[in-house]
Amino acid sequence: MSELKDVITSYNSLSFSDRIVFYTTISNDMPLKDDLQSFLIETRLDSDSCIYCKGMHVVKNGKRKDGTQRYLCRCCRRSFIPSSDSITSRTRKSVSVWAAYLKCMLEQKTLKETSEECHISMSTAFTWRHKILDTLTELTERTYLTGIVEADETYFNVSYKGNHKRSRHFSMPRKAHRRGNDIRAKGLSSEKVCVPCAVNETGISYAEPGKPGKVSSECIKRVLGKKIAPNATLCTDRERAYQDLACTNELKLIQMDTDCRTTQKGGKTYDIQRINAYHSRLKTFIRKFHGVSTKYLGNYNVWNDLLSGNHRKTEEFIVQLWGQLLCARITRYGYDIPRRPPLPVTA
Ligand SMILES: [Zn+2]
Repeated sequence: MSELKDVITSYNSLSFSDRIVFYTTISNDMPLKDDLQSFLIETRLDSDSCIYCKGMHVVKNGKRKDGTQRYLCRCCRRSFIPSSDSITSRTRKSVSVWAAYLKCMLEQKTLKETSEECHISMSTAFTWRHKILDTLTELTERTYLTGIVEADETYFNVSYKGNHKRSRHFSMPRKAHRRGNDIRAKGLSSEKVCVPCAVNETGISYAEPGKPGKVSSECIKRVLGKKIAPNATLCTDRERAYQDLACTNELKLIQMDTDCRTTQKGGKTYDIQRINAYHSRLKTFIRKFHGVSTKYLGNYNVWNDLLSGNHRKTEEFIVQLWGQLLCARITRYGYDIPRRPPLPVTA
C-alpha cells in the first residue's frame, strides 16, 4: 500500500504536461507499446471493418516491402494499410514521437523548439501542426455553442507569409510589408481580415477568419450561423450584422453598448465581458508565433479554442482527443497544406 501512496504522491506533484505523458503511457485508450502499426490495427480496423466504407468483408492482401500488412475490402474493392487516410499516413515515426509532438502543441511551443524536442525536421513539424489542426477542425465540426453566447468580431492584419513569390498560383497583390507592422491604411481597410468570434457560458469558443475589410452580415452569418445552436441567447454590441444573424437563426438577441458592463433584461443580467477576454487571449496567443499567415489563421483559431476552456484541460479529455486524432479519417492531406488560398474563400 505504501507503494501506491508513493505513486499517488508523485502523480500529484507532476505538471499538467507530464500528466499527459503519464496518461498516454498507461491508459487503455493508448497503445502500450511504442508501435504505431499495431495500435492502428487495433483501433482503426476494429471488428475487421473497412476504413473507407465500414464494410465487413475485409481480407489480408499481402505485405508491403517494409512489412506493413495490406488489406483489401471486398465491398468497395479498395486496398489500404492501417494508416491510410490518417494523420500518420506516409510517416514513419513511433507513437512516442507523436505523443511528444502533441505535448509540445499543448505547451504552445514554436516549430524550432518542437523540432528539437521531437527530433524531427522543421518542415515535418510544420506539416504535422497543420495536419493535426485540420483534423481537429473536422472532429469539432459538429460542436455547437448553446446557452448564453457572447459574440463579437476582431481583426488581424492580412499576412501573405508562406505564399511563395515565384509560385505559379500566387502573385503578391501589394508591396511586401516589413514584418507586417507598417500597415499604413488607418481603420478597417482590406489590409485587415475580420474574424467573428463567439464564446458561451461554459467556455466553449469558436472563431474563424471571415473576409478582409469591415464586418458584414454575410460574414457573420457564414462563420457563426453554423456554430450557434437554435434557442441560444446571443449577446453582442450594437452592430447590425448580429441582428441579421439572430433573425435568420431565430436566436434571442440582447444588444448593449460596447462600454456598458452589464445589461438587465427579464430579471437576468447579461454582459459581453467573456468575449472581450477571449479576444485578448486570442491576440496574445497569435502574437507568440511572430506573424501568422492569413491562410493558416483559421487553424490557429482552432488551436486557441482547444487550449481555452478549463474543462478541455482534463487528462481524460486529452487522452480521448489523442486517440481520436490518431484514428480519425482525414479528408485534407499534408501535401495540400501550402496550396491553400492566401485569403479566406468567401461564399
Ligand atoms: Zn470498403
